Amino acid sequence: MDHDEITRWLREEDPEALTRLWARADEVRRDNVGDQVHLRGLIEIGNYCVRRCGYCGLSAGRSGLQRYRMSAGEILDCAAQAVEYGYGTVVIQAGEDPLLTAEFIGGLVAEIKSTTPLAVTLSLGERGDEELAHWRSAGADRYLLRFETSNRGLFDRIHPPLGDRRSDRPAMLLRMAEMGYEVGSGVMVGIPGQTYDDLAGDVETFARLNLDMIGLGPYIPHPDTPLGAETGAGADQAPASEELTYRVMALARLVCPLANIPSTSALATLNLAEGRELGLARGANVVMPNLTPRQYRPMYEIYPAKACIRETARQCHSCMRSRIESLGRSVGLGPGASPNYLARRRQTSGDVTCVQ
Ligand code: SAM
Repeated sequence: MDHDEITRWLREEDPEALTRLWARADEVRRDNVGDQVHLRGLIEIGNYCVRRCGYCGLSAGRSGLQRYRMSAGEILDCAAQAVEYGYGTVVIQAGEDPLLTAEFIGGLVAEIKSTTPLAVTLSLGERGDEELAHWRSAGADRYLLRFETSNRGLFDRIHPPLGDRRSDRPAMLLRMAEMGYEVGSGVMVGIPGQTYDDLAGDVETFARLNLDMIGLGPYIPHPDTPLGAETGAGADQAPASEELTYRVMALARLVCPLANIPSTSALATLNLAEGRELGLARGANVVMPNLTPRQYRPMYEIYPAKACIRETARQCHSCMRSRIESLGRSVGLGPGASPNYLARRRQTSGDVTCVQ
């Protein structure tokens, strides 16, 4: 699919054509990653962040947010809960926080890997190659880092550099793949200043980076952030809508048929009743029930009115299961590595030890 065709789909106004897009994405999903929906237990281990991202409620520039870091014991309790609920993976996510040191995270990963069958995904922001290699050798399986937008000028505007360190997330993602990580990235849809043309470039970038996992959701303004007051009302502004997010998701499935694609909580935030289900019917095959202890959830406020911040982990667990079953799909068993990763590993190293 070339740039023009992607752009046409993003702008398509004919409802019948869109129905065909959803059906095609669902068919490609079924043929390539199957009917199982994998559950990833999300643990938001801390909300300290050194970054000043214009869009994010965890930004260092934000005052008035109570900050927290979970202890190793609390995180391991969440991992034990993941095992109890039958999840195959935990996703350990936080703001970019140097006090979550290489040793602390490495010890945690090693402990989870030696005491549970879980795959471990890390999502801790832009970290150095040494730390990433250390965590990989401690047993970390996957890393998630969204490139947020492929428009370099827009990215620089919403994601100021840290000191003289200019971010190059696509390059980092390629290095992670070389280290043997299963690599996930993605974007926000409808960032002020983001055009349809930019979004088409994002979809092309998913394919160019040969991503194993693609996470995307609508941009949701946070009033206490610099970007929160911007409307981005330029003529070609892409709306931060639920429907445009499904289009990007469906196109991501078409250009990366073997990737794992979550139906994200940002979608559920826009449409609690059926956002997750519509995502799963339009290309997605993963959901991420939240395991974060309830007292911390309101503090992980990347955007306001996040879905499911008052539920317990047990409530999230049974809610997700029944949503999946209501679609006639089944809950995935085991770590659920992306077929793209498994194929890549077989091609590059003949390594067959990666988690299935
Ligand atoms: N610090 C890590 C990082 O930057 O990759 C992980 C945590 S960060 C909060 C996770 C993701 O939240 C970001 O990649 C971004 O896409 C998303 N996010 C942050 N603020 C958002 C907003 N206002 N609306 C939608 N998504 C947002």
